[in-house]
Order: sequence, then structure tokens, then C-alpha cells
Amino acid sequence: MAPATLFVNGKIFLSGVSPGTNAGLHRPPTFAECMLIRGSQIEHVGLSSDAAIEAARAAGPDEVTVCDLQGKTILPGFIDGHMHLMLLGQALNKLDLGRCKNLEDIRNTIREYAAANPHLPRILCRGWMHIMTPDGAKASDLDDLDPTGQNRPILIDSKDLHSTWANTAGIEELGAREWTDVPAGIIHRDEQGNLLGVFSEAANLTYVWPYIARVASVEERIEAIKAAVKAYHETGYTGIIDMAMDEGSWEALQTLLKREGSIQMRIAAYWLVKPCKTEEETMAQVERAIELAKLHNAETSPDCRIIGVKVICDGIVDACTAVLSEPYAHNGHVELPLWTENQLRPVVKRATEAGLQIALHAIGDATVKMVVDVLTKYADPEKRPRMEHIEVSRKEDVERMGKGRITASIQPVHSDPAILKAWPRLLGEHRCGRAFAYREFADVGAPLALGSDAPTAPHTPLGNIYVGTTRRSYREPELETVVNPHFALGLCEAVAAGTEGAAYSCFDEHRIGVLKAGHKADFVIVDMEWKKEKLMQAKVIETWYDGAKVYAAQE
Ligand SMILES: [Zn+2]
Repeated sequence: MAPATLFVNGKIFLSGVSPGTNAGLHRPPTFAECMLIRGSQIEHVGLSSDAAIEAARAAGPDEVTVCDLQGKTILPGFIDGHMHLMLLGQALNKLDLGRCKNLEDIRNTIREYAAANPHLPRILCRGWMHIMTPDGAKASDLDDLDPTGQNRPILIDSKDLHSTWANTAGIEELGAREWTDVPAGIIHRDEQGNLLGVFSEAANLTYVWPYIARVASVEERIEAIKAAVKAYHETGYTGIIDMAMDEGSWEALQTLLKREGSIQMRIAAYWLVKPCKTEEETMAQVERAIELAKLHNAETSPDCRIIGVKVICDGIVDACTAVLSEPYAHNGHVELPLWTENQLRPVVKRATEAGLQIALHAIGDATVKMVVDVLTKYADPEKRPRMEHIEVSRKEDVERMGKGRITASIQPVHSDPAILKAWPRLLGEHRCGRAFAYREFADVGAPLALGSDAPTAPHTPLGNIYVGTTRRSYREPELETVVNPHFALGLCEAVAAGTEGAAYSCFDEHRIGVLKAGHKADFVIVDMEWKKEKLMQAKVIETWYDGAKVYAAQE
């Protein structure tokens, strides 16, 4: 028999929540005392007096290792319902500008880093927020920051990943002077038509991302994946849903999988479909996703599979690219969506007909409405269609989400009050009152899947749950602002959404997401008090994947 481990004297979380019938604010948790795992599977969860547990104890240390949890909690391994594996891995190796307050901070931080890293061919940075550069970002702001005299390209990701800001050497290296405009993309120019060095939305997706992917070798991409998986094990994840899979990441994943057999992370991926000049080019991407899903699916490779297509239908509030039903409050602008219903229809219909799942990004309330229209008309509710983000929504559309059984794929870390300081000015107070209406999503019976959208936000699942349940800041815990507290999730509900809910969203609930006999032994041991206010102090002690320990905290 395979080696077994018996965990005793613990609080083994029994979710007891089925997706779509959400637990509500006040459901108390249910815990078992013991869990027995054998090989890669959970064999029994229950009381110490259960016959299976007594038999395991009696078997002796040669057959069963006993682990005394001393009151610690075991949760199912977390599954990030929305993240970007390659971007996270690459970001972990980029200079973080997240703590900068203004342009001067950004310039000093880059100058120091450039001096300290003379061997790097280019300076890659992350974490720039538009509020740090209220006068707009320009290439010339970055042109004198390389003390080594190499005048290297500098490429800076915005924190939301919807824009890249390059210096003049970066513009040259990217070849951006040759670029033509793309639908729904912005190549920012001054009044004379000169490039400013900032590329947003589809221009970023179409030109900059593939460039960065190309200049990274397969080995560098593999290192990025490994760095991301390690960071995920450390915070308690055993599964992810990648929300923008592309050729470069897929090639690296497949190479790594062939080399090592397992990545120790259950990966389900949505293929990113970008807007193209012709419908034919757009549809070619859908066909590619269908082709890959035929080869890599739940039967052939359950731990690394293509499950659907993802379309980014609008931008974000901070860049004023989210599409709203009323104009932006500060400038009266009305944004147009990146995709119209007519453009989405063939994509959603073809992918649905081929058995793929559909994930549509919608942040502004006008886009939320359009996405609900499209999903209810053209997607198959049996295939668990989903909407990503849903940051500003109208009540009537939330009700339609519930009726259409559309998965609400939410990232509480995006509702952190520390990053919403510009919202009242951009949206007006009245619309801020409709921000991140998670309670309504749960109450109308939309299945919930919790995600982090890393690397656009911190990926820790317990921090994510803290924000979702307290509606307070994880980034700046001392901040006392509470964002629309009446929209908070309950603690059991949020934990379930980050485990069982995320598994359900990708048809994996029959083997992961809940601690029960017959399921995979994917779980996390946490030293925690079961109180939302105490989640910031909770500590991940160990992470287990497929019955093996993949992370242990330093004592
Ligand atoms: Zn995302």
C-alpha cells in the first residue's frame, strides 16, 4: 500500500457549500478532527473515533505517519480563479515601482537599479500606477536614467497590465515607430503626432506583450513559471486558472512538463483572443484554442489543459478605459467598448459549439450589461460561462447574472481601498456606491470564483479573503476606509469561493476544492483564528500537492 499520513487534532474545513447556493454572511464553519491521506488521495475525513481513523492509528508508524496539528486548520489547497502565470513569473524578476508616489520616486528607483545591474540587456519594471504620473507619462521622463552609459531600453508595466511605458531606447527596440493603429488599442502621441512612449489596451496586447515574450528565451520563460509556482506554493495555492494563455507561455509550460513530468500545480487555461483587423484573423485564434483543447483536456492532461477562450471587453477605471453607462465624472468622456456585441457573437458561438468555456472581462457597468447580453444569448449555461472582474454593475444586470448562472469571477484585492482613491473623482460618489457588489452576486445565486489577477494585485489568498470579507485594505492595513461594507462576503463563503468555487468554475470539483474521501490530497495547513479580522495574522505552515509536501514555512 502507498504511504499514508494521518492528521489529527486539527480543524479540517468542510465546505458544505455548493457553488450557486452561497453560504451567506453568517454561516459558521464546520470542521472535522482528522484527515487520512494515502498516496495522492484523501482516504478519510472525520472524527478520531471513526473506524478508519482508529485502524490507521493502530497500523503503526511503519505504515502510517501521524501528524499532530495542535489545533491548526486544514483548508483545501487554494485555486486562483484568475491569474497570469507567465506575467507573474516575469514580474517577480522585474523592478517593482509599487511603492513610488510620484515621477521623482520612479526616476530615482530606476536609476539606482540600473546602476546596480549593469549586466541586464534592458530594464524591466512593474507596478506603475497612473496616479503616480498625473501629468501623463512620457518617454523623455526616462531617457537619462542609465548611469552605466549604455542607454538601455526601459519598459515599465502599469500595475493593471493594461499599459506599457517605454523610454526612447525602448521605443526603438520595440520598433514602435513602424506600428500601425490597432482596433481598440491606443498608441499615445503628442499633438504633433510624435510617440509619447505609452501603449495601452490592444496596442499593449498586440505589440508589447508578444515582443517581451519573444525576447525571453524558453529557459527564461521556464524560470519565470517556476518562480511563480514557488511563490504560489508559499501562499497556499495548489491550482490556478490562467486567464490569458498564449503561444509563448504554452510552449514553455509544455517544455517544462516534458522535462519534469509535473509542475506541482493544477493548471487550467483560457486562451486569450485579441481583437484583429479582420474577423478571419480573430477567428483563427479561436480555432487555435479549439485545436489545443482537443489535445490538452480533462481526459488527456487534467493538470495542464486548455478550457476556454478569454476576451478583454473593456479596460479599467483608473485609466478611464472601463466602459460606463454614464460619462466619466471628471471629464465627461464616454468610452467605447473594445469589443461590440457583433464582434463577440462569432467568437462566443464558435467556441461554445466546440465545447469550450467562455470568460469575458467586464469592468464598467455598460460592458457588464453587454457581456450579460452576449453570454445569455450565445453561451451555454451548462458550460459555466463567466464574467471577469465586474467592478461597477447595475442591479438589474446582477439579477440577470444570477438567472443566467454566470460565474462571478471576482478579485477582492482589486477592491482594496488603498487603490481606489481616484474613484470618487472619476466615477462620482453615486457610482462608487455600486462598486464591487459581491454580496449581491452571491445572493442572486451566481457561482463565485475567487481570484487575485496576479501580478496586477498581491496574490495571497488569505489577504484576498481578508479584503473580500472586511472590505478593508490589505495593502495598507492601517487604513480605516471600508468599501461598501454591505457588499461583504461571509468568511466560509469566501474560502469556498477560493477553493471549491474556483474548482467548480473549471469543472474540476469532482477531484479538488473540497476535503473529502476520494479527492486529491491538495491542501494547506494554516495557523489561524477563524475570524475575518484576524486573517492578516494567519500563517501558511505547509502546502501539500497530490499527497506530497511542496512547501513548509521556516520555523
Ligand atoms: Zn487578468
